[in-house]
Amino acid sequence: MIGIDKGITRFATLSDGRFIAPLNRFKKHEVRLARYQRAMSRKQKFSKNWIKAKAKITALHSRIGNVRQDFMHKTTTALSKNHAMIVVEDLKVTNMSASAKGTLAEPSRKVAQKSGLNKAVLDQGWGMFDEFLDYKLQWNGGELLEVPPHHTSQTSPACGHVSADNRQTQAKFECVECGYSNNADVVGAINVLNKGRKKLEGQDTVDGSTGCESIAQLVCVSTGGCSATKKPRRAAPVRGRVNDAVMSSATETRRGGKSKPSLTASP
Ligand SMILES: [Zn+2]
Repeated sequence: MIGIDKGITRFATLSDGRFIAPLNRFKKHEVRLARYQRAMSRKQKFSKNWIKAKAKITALHSRIGNVRQDFMHKTTTALSKNHAMIVVEDLKVTNMSASAKGTLAEPSRKVAQKSGLNKAVLDQGWGMFDEFLDYKLQWNGGELLEVPPHHTSQTSPACGHVSADNRQTQAKFECVECGYSNNADVVGAINVLNKGRKKLEGQDTVDGSTGCESIAQLVCVSTGGCSATKKPRRAAPVRGRVNDAVMSSATETRRGGKSKPSLTASP
């Protein structure tokens, strides 16, 4: 059983510390797409050159779609082969709560909102990722569990203390209560995994969170009032052999726009 945290700098981080790098080729395609669009805007509408420019954009769009789909298939196949049960954040909840949460919005997602087109591309990617993962896990007799995303980047996996102060920077998590320190994305994935376990055990409250919501959330964050209801848990040990071509690349570099997504050990 494993938890996954979705992000921008790392496409997906696993609760065992490994991660899948984002697809670098998207960036190149985005730059090219912007250039093509500028070129088209300079042409006279419906002229021969305009039609040519438009065709180029259409072709690039479909290329981006193919590249994305290929990437999603490779990553989800590898993950579903190595794990029977995978826990992810529920995208529907994330999207709905983005505006309502205001300043409490999780830092990683604020970054996502700023990066415009990249976010749009990744959003579609995440929906596809969950969908592929779901049916591939079911083929193998496994299951995809979805949990609400609240607090996953702010909760200490060691002591359960919830505070925005735990997340000092985008990359680093350090609990102000117990000093537990780890990569912030790994912490997110561990918390997602823990929520999944609680859900399985049937310990979850109505909304699946740890019992503090909306207005109460403000109190929780400032006082750490949630911590009493949480039991510290440890990350799951790595199970199953990591033998797939896509999964085996701990030593492989991930530069230069490779088509193979690689899972890399956390630094
Ligand atoms: Zn702590």
